[in-house]
Amino acid sequence: MTALLEVEGLNGWYGRAQALFGVGLSIAEGEVVALLGRNGAGKSTTFKGIAGLLDRRDGRIAFDGMDVSGLPTPALVRRGLAYVPEDRRIFADLTVEENLEVGRRPPRPGTTPWTPERLFALFPNLAEMRRRRGGAMSGGEQQMLSIARALMGNPRLVLLDEPSEGLAPKIVEDMALAILALKRDGLSILLSEQNLHFARLISDRAVVIDRGHIRLAGTIAEIAADPEACAAYLSV
Ligand code: ATP
Repeated sequence: MTALLEVEGLNGWYGRAQALFGVGLSIAEGEVVALLGRNGAGKSTTFKGIAGLLDRRDGRIAFDGMDVSGLPTPALVRRGLAYVPEDRRIFADLTVEENLEVGRRPPRPGTTPWTPERLFALFPNLAEMRRRRGGAMSGGEQQMLSIARALMGNPRLVLLDEPSEGLAPKIVEDMALAILALKRDGLSILLSEQNLHFARLISDRAVVIDRGHIRLAGTIAEIAADPEACAAYLSV
């Protein structure tokens, strides 16, 4: 089966400092894959590399069977790649509804397009605050809004950078349920996480990154059953 996203030998730099060393991973259509690693391991940098946001990168990135390595970010977005960065980037002065409109893009043929109403069913607490300004929302609410805004672009694959970070336990649970609903809907998701707990609830497979190198890949159960790897590469 062709992977929806295939990354091979991805190297990435900040200025002259190399941060990614031959990163490889793949995601099949409809799969949820976790990119696991500690603080500073290279998770966000991998996402930026895939999304065309690093100053310098090389390697091969294929999306839906096409080499997209040389494409700038807007062209990747048009092909169905969405990126939700760790810092959320909510427009503080816009309401929830207005933030969603910013993300609206044409529907993909043969799929049900995302609308604010459909998103409010997925994230019920956003529905209750549809006229609230982004700046007046909690971190967890902003996190949900940033995912909802990315979905308004009707993507095929979403890169979610640490979706559970800084969320209260109850909100983490809501987030896991929302991601599982997206998976049931056929969306492909690559998410990054520092520890296994959240990733375990929702992911099919995981790859472990450490100091810019992929160290392990397997099912979450396989990785969880390897205490040495967990101790070496993950926050537990
Ligand atoms: P975190 O959980 O902290 O986001 P991460 O796994 O996403 O961790 P990255 O942010 O990808 O880690 O960082 C990987 C490496 O690149 C680290 O050594 C970090 O210090 C370095 N780095 C990240 N951003 C920059 C930048 N803008 N300029 C220079 N170096 C950077």
